[in-house]
Amino acid sequence: MTQRGIFGTWWVNTGRGHNELGFDFIDDQAYWVAAVRAGHDLANHTLHHTGARDASDAEWEIGENARRIWAIQPETKILLFDRGGGTVWDTSEEQIKLILAKYHCVDGRGAHAIDIPAWQINHSAAEFRSFVDTAIEEGGYYTFILHGIGRNSEWGVQSDGDAFTALLDYLVEKKDLVWSDTFTKT
Ligand SMILES: [Zn+2]
Repeated sequence: MTQRGIFGTWWVNTGRGHNELGFDFIDDQAYWVAAVRAGHDLANHTLHHTGARDASDAEWEIGENARRIWAIQPETKILLFDRGGGTVWDTSEEQIKLILAKYHCVDGRGAHAIDIPAWQINHSAAEFRSFVDTAIEEGGYYTFILHGIGRNSEWGVQSDGDAFTALLDYLVEKKDLVWSDTFTKT
């Protein structure tokens, strides 16, 4: 993406180290710092993606992740937030709302998001290109949400990394007609 001048928003777990799938924020921090400097931005996906045992644990999972993200991108105070699929939060929704407000987190993907359920389907290159064509025809916003890309994609089903690369190449080809940027900037 960076090589092609295409940038995205990455919902990160800054408390996670090495795991069998390869995602490693702690040891790869320099990689993420470079990504932010290039034009990507980070969003809050909680510290560990493991839910919360109680209200104070929820505050740590949300608040500490926000602090670590702000350390990398201090100029982006407002953070998009997603608590993580398959997690249990032993605290009230009211409490979570208060914690999100305290840490400037917006639950969701921004006002313009019209999701294509990309996380449920391993899209082909032709499908990806057709989404771009539709966006151009309709003059609208489209968003792609993926929970991982490529062979080792984490719980994501976009294991066809080549199809994703084809999408990026198509966005470059159509750059005079279609604009793309991070969720935060849209
Ligand atoms: Zn997740």
